[in-house]
Amino acid sequence: MRQVMWALAVLLVSMISIDAGADTRALQESAKTAFGNHSGGAVIMRVSDGKILAIVNPKVSAIQLHPPGSVFKLVTGFAALQEGITSAGAKFRCSGNQPIGDVLLYCTTPNGHGTISFPEAIAQSCNVTFYGLGRKLGPKRLLKYARVFALDRKVPGYKGVQAVGHLPASPVIHPAQTAQMAVGQANGFKITLLEAAEMVRRIANGNAHVAGIDNSKTRRNLAVIRSAMRLAVISGTCKNAAVGGVEIAGKTGSPEAADDSDKRNGWFVGFAPYKKPEIVLVVFVNRGHGYDTAAPIARRIFSAYFGKENKR
Ligand SMILES: [Zn+2]
Repeated sequence: MRQVMWALAVLLVSMISIDAGADTRALQESAKTAFGNHSGGAVIMRVSDGKILAIVNPKVSAIQLHPPGSVFKLVTGFAALQEGITSAGAKFRCSGNQPIGDVLLYCTTPNGHGTISFPEAIAQSCNVTFYGLGRKLGPKRLLKYARVFALDRKVPGYKGVQAVGHLPASPVIHPAQTAQMAVGQANGFKITLLEAAEMVRRIANGNAHVAGIDNSKTRRNLAVIRSAMRLAVISGTCKNAAVGGVEIAGKTGSPEAADDSDKRNGWFVGFAPYKKPEIVLVVFVNRGHGYDTAAPIARRIFSAYFGKENKR
């Protein structure tokens, strides 16, 4: 009798693991299909332990390096909160551009965002707000926080071949370069999709995992970033990633392509569910924008994972 019980137990366990494998393969397939005619890559990472549940196009996702663009505003924003340079209730002015020395840097919208709060500056991806925060932080602290979010090392949850991100040389001399770095667009600043996933996992987990800065302030500040990411899906640049019945949080990016500055690539990074994060999703599209190319692909992948209809 005991042997029969054991046999049943073994059978049951193997059935469960076969099912899990089938789910992973199905997720992988859905993620690939979600791209339609677009090319790019995607990573789905489990929040609890960083395991990679699916990876689309490992060459693009794990080996190639890409300028992070506005998805890096999550790091700049957290750094500015953590260093006491800003607060969740702070307000900023955006007229659409910002002269820095002899360089004129632009916002994402030509007429500017007007008066904008800190969470809205993330949700609407206001460059001018982040140029200012980046200059106050300075290059050394921007680099420090890029390392806090592990943008300079391999992601342990992925066993395949992977590259390691390039951070810009420090110190960045010209203040305009520091401003550009704050919005993820400095010369030589490139990361993998895997690293972007690990960055968001640390935000979703509410724990930056770094000795010396992991305290109640850290957790409170990460919660501010998470709620701004939720706002981005409700009313900001990630609206196209929204799925009915699942609370998704995200951030887009549309940096100049590393190989052709006239072209842009689209990023979406995010996690769900907002209150109890299970997965991190990173989508990268060659020759696209975050808002209208990467976010809709993210919506289809989230829909597949959560088994929801593909609707707003
Ligand atoms: Zn702006």
